[in-house]
Amino acid sequence: MAVQQNKVSKSRRNNRRAHDSLVAANPNECSNCGELKRPHHVCASCGHYADREVVAMADEVELDEDAA
Ligand SMILES: [Zn+2]
Repeated sequence: MAVQQNKVSKSRRNNRRAHDSLVAANPNECSNCGELKRPHHVCASCGHYADREVVAMADEVELDEDAA
């Protein structure tokens, strides 16, 4: 078992943990539907990225009922 050579003081421990906090997400507004989306990601609600549709959403796919 590895054993530390020196005691880490409360100050040094707390200084190390000063950078451990999580930062809140910074969502952008989708330019197509206005929904909040992650920056540099395809919009989860409409599938658009940079003003064009890159992912077809399931509710927008029209199935021809006569073809089946
Ligand atoms: Zn959108």
